[in-house]
Amino acid sequence: AARLNAIHSIATAPGYESTIDYAGSPTSSVWGENVFSLNEMAQRLPKAIFKSLKNTITSGEPLDISTADAVAEAMKTWALSKGATHYAHVFYPLTGLTAEKHDSFFDPDGDGGTIATFSGTALIQGEPDGSSFPNGGIRQTFEARGYTIWDVTSPAYIIENPNGTTLCIPTAFVSWTGEALDKKTPVLRSMQALNEQTQRVLKFFGTDGPFVSATAGAEQEYFLVDNNFFYARPDLLACGRTLFGAPPPKGQEFDDHYFGAIPERVQSFMFEVERECFKLGIPTKTRHNEVAPGQFEIAPVYEYANIATDHQQMIMTILKKVANKYGLACLMHEKPFAGVNGSGKHVNFSMGSSKAGNLFDPGDTPAENAQFLVFCTAMISAVYKHAKLLRAVVASASNDHRLGANEAPPAILSIFLGDELNDVFEAIVSGGSVSAKKATLNLGVDVIPTIPKHSGDRNRTSPMAFTGNRFEFRAVGSYQSIAGPMVAMNAIMTEALAEAATYLEGADTSSPEKLGTAVEGYIKTVWAECSTVVFNGDGYSDEWHAEAESRGLPNLKTTADALPVLLEPKYTELFGKYGILSERELHSRYEVYAEQYIASVNVESNLVVEIAKTVVFPAAIRYQGELALSLANLKAVGIEADSETLKKITALIADLQSGIADLEALKAAEHSQGDVAAHTLFIKDEVLRQMLAVRATVDELESMVADDLWPLPTFQEMLYIK
Ligand code: ADP
Ligand code: MG
Repeated sequence: AARLNAIHSIATAPGYESTIDYAGSPTSSVWGENVFSLNEMAQRLPKAIFKSLKNTITSGEPLDISTADAVAEAMKTWALSKGATHYAHVFYPLTGLTAEKHDSFFDPDGDGGTIATFSGTALIQGEPDGSSFPNGGIRQTFEARGYTIWDVTSPAYIIENPNGTTLCIPTAFVSWTGEALDKKTPVLRSMQALNEQTQRVLKFFGTDGPFVSATAGAEQEYFLVDNNFFYARPDLLACGRTLFGAPPPKGQEFDDHYFGAIPERVQSFMFEVERECFKLGIPTKTRHNEVAPGQFEIAPVYEYANIATDHQQMIMTILKKVANKYGLACLMHEKPFAGVNGSGKHVNFSMGSSKAGNLFDPGDTPAENAQFLVFCTAMISAVYKHAKLLRAVVASASNDHRLGANEAPPAILSIFLGDELNDVFEAIVSGGSVSAKKATLNLGVDVIPTIPKHSGDRNRTSPMAFTGNRFEFRAVGSYQSIAGPMVAMNAIMTEALAEAATYLEGADTSSPEKLGTAVEGYIKTVWAECSTVVFNGDGYSDEWHAEAESRGLPNLKTTADALPVLLEPKYTELFGKYGILSERELHSRYEVYAEQYIASVNVESNLVVEIAKTVVFPAAIRYQGELALSLANLKAVGIEADSETLKKITALIADLQSGIADLEALKAAEHSQGDVAAHTLFIKDEVLRQMLAVRATVDELESMVADDLWPLPTFQEMLYIK
């Protein structure tokens, strides 16, 4: 059987040795070597050109064509020196994946030779025929033209392959009418909007001025499975998760994997991943085993949101590529193994500028603390008012399996402040004192509370947790681009800060004391309206689900429930008002994500049918045949034997057949589901349910059929053999 062959191949594999000389060339020495960084540009560009480019990067002013020509020439020279033959505009379509179109630098020179050219126009604008990317109705195929436009704030870089290298240029992807067809454009727009409203607030504290950027640090969780198993599981191969599989006899009950010693092959893989990241200027920092056997995590140091988003996509590509070199498949799916911990991508979020510092960092002075409290309060307001949006932007067929399972935050969006910070808010609101030890709290008179540093007692069950100097959005799925979550966070913070600014602008802030009183008033107003979203307890508990319901907090359990939020007029208004997404752009996203949901479950249900019919059923009837033969033989020699096992198998085979037939009938009925929303609901309520019914039968068969006949690698094998 395929499964036994896989085990044999792994057991006799020669081992995976790294070819990198880490001692001779330490990873620290390759930092940024494949990035066309500001440093590199400073050295290669005339001073005036460099200044003009830098200006564009920091101010967002358009790049003029003569500057672009000069930059392109320098970039080409640099890329050719790195062995590049082609350049690629890299963009991020709504599939959530990374797309690229390669063009050669070389043209015939007319004299039988060839010449390398790269113009400013080719650098700043490309024209891929992106007509097959989903666009949710924005673009018809007859107007297939889409443009890629260089995001000057994200540096160009070189991607290496043993047989050549390519210059990659991060770009936004827009239609010829200027509508965003990608995930990058709204991130950039939302950062702009956030900056504008933040400046209005910072004015009151004298910290306005330099661009305030959203920052993001995304922790990526993933599984590694030996390629031999991966290829023996059609479900892993085609949908990234197992559609069948009984729980392993040894699960994660010993907690012996989390932060444990990293297996050698995995460690070699990690070294090389980090090295690849370093070459590309991606500041990877943390690596460790995660909770489930076979599960790991990598986290970079935080960066500006748009760069972090690009880098996050690159990390996923690198993980997959390097894993393969070590005979491993890297699974980024949120729930590759039912009943085993899933994978998230915790997005740590903050905002700040050179002058204002980290705006979620409690300061040392009363004024800094007042500023911090305003931003924290805005965050509470944002999450309260837009819990449903935050749920919608982490919605996908795959993340549905993780959210609300016993290890991931529930679909209920609440915010965790930690007891100490919570006390500060309670005290301000009630006019009491923060604690016996601390001074009486009265923002209006003299003291603004000292906010305990790193008060964030860790809460791993909250979807949105304050962790001392940032918020950690833990509902984001491991397979997702962080662009959507970043856009949502930026947008809702933009609105909340606009409200804060409007409040302060309408108040008397003519002295520090009066400003204190105004801040206190703002906090009280928001707290009165929004504090039900604050929850500092165990988000995994059943009590919380009941409590959240009584507080009236939304609980959108699945993608089918959550995605329609994007169509609410409230969001057309919010995204429109701040120039982040037009109504058409927003609605196109609903269309695309709903279609993706439908398509991915469709692939899964196809596979359930196929695997059940062509892999499981044959194994089951072979075993049934053996049992029947054995019984007949015994009977022939006059021994009466118990036929219970045969009866049970026979019943399960009948269940399997009827289960498959029911699933096929549902799939046939799918086409008549009318609109997209009805279709997603049908999938959620009917198709997924029936897939589980078939699975239950298959998993039971797995526990009965003779081991040498069972074709699919088991959870036990996939999770523990490294
Ligand atoms: P933990 O596992 O405790 O959550 P990690 O060290 O795995 O912590 O990840 C924390 C992440 O938070 C890192 O990516 C880190 O760079 C990021 N981070 C720290 N400060 C900020 C900030 N101001 N803005 C955004 N992200 C931040
Ligand atoms: Mg972590």
